[in-house]
Amino acid sequence: MTALKAHILARIATEGPMRLSDYMAECLLNPQHGYYTTRDPLGTAGDFTTAPEISQMFGELLGLALAQSWVDQGMPAPFCLAELGPGRGTLMADLLRATRAVPGFHDALRLHLVEASPALRDQQASRLKGTQATWVDRVEDLPDLPLFLIANEFFDALPIRQYRRAGAGWREVHVGAEGDRLVPGLAPAGPGPEGRDEDTGDGDLVETCPAGALIAGQIGARIAARGGSALIVDYGDWRSLGDTLQALRKHASTDPFEAPGEADLTAHVDFEPLARSAAPAAHTLLTTQGVFLERLGITARAQALAERLSGVQRVSHIAAHRRLTHPDEMGSLFKVMALYPQGAHPPPGLEPAGAQA
Ligand code: SAH
Repeated sequence: MTALKAHILARIATEGPMRLSDYMAECLLNPQHGYYTTRDPLGTAGDFTTAPEISQMFGELLGLALAQSWVDQGMPAPFCLAELGPGRGTLMADLLRATRAVPGFHDALRLHLVEASPALRDQQASRLKGTQATWVDRVEDLPDLPLFLIANEFFDALPIRQYRRAGAGWREVHVGAEGDRLVPGLAPAGPGPEGRDEDTGDGDLVETCPAGALIAGQIGARIAARGGSALIVDYGDWRSLGDTLQALRKHASTDPFEAPGEADLTAHVDFEPLARSAAPAAHTLLTTQGVFLERLGITARAQALAERLSGVQRVSHIAAHRRLTHPDEMGSLFKVMALYPQGAHPPPGLEPAGAQA
């Protein structure tokens, strides 16, 4: 048995079954044994891969979109350029390279990386060598400046709570123990997820992400008060129904309760509660990653890069373009939403929410 599983079983033995969010927090961020705390999970040798690791085009285009938004808002200087959960630092490295030609952008930016994992902070530092960067633990530690922020596959890594509808009431999912096995179960009836009584029926399962709502609230408040914009990219939808908790190990799915700390745990992101928490900042329509990247000109960029490549490199570059944009790959599952000040232009490639607001 792993040390983390023994620790979780001991906690359950003394405190009783724990909320799913507490279980996820232990698995992902336990200071000694957590999944993110102890390793670099990315890339082909790791457990999963992400858009910036697939192609440099992803970070380049998101970077140029953010820089355009900075220009549209009158080039505030200085401003805070922030990334949440920067992984290996690849997206930020591509963003910084692509925006070198934007006059004034680099002089004005104060780079801040919000990262919980010491192992990944080291990776980011080596990837961004030569760039001045400050690491912080939480969004509330970012400096009080106009905020231009990027978050790719960050919100899906935050702990969720799950509630099962039982008649007119709700029972929350808790993690308990049967001998040496960790098993999910239902707590007695109690308070349920806000605003979901109308669109659910007996037996339905609803997820909430309190940490995500809190962070979106902090970002929205900063953008509303100081200006800026946030590009949030993740898999999920406006509002979900059903169990989306998943565990990935070596690119294959596994039981979330079998080997705590050894597998990546994620859940689909509900963008509606993020948008609502971010008010009074405005939010854009939720747009698929494929459409967003096409609007930003990924095909032209892909062709320009392809001209310099041949053989295997060219084939894998074409496959990467498809992987990022095609509806059968990441193009439809992944969504993009931006937060921006009321009355300002949304970042390029995205439309004001209007009907969805
Ligand atoms: N954005 C990167 C990595 C995604 S993996 C990419 O697209 O490749 C999720 C990232 O979020 C990791 O860097 C992880 O360490 C970080 N992370 C997860 N939970 C966090 C939290 N609560 N606070 C800060 N960082 C967190």
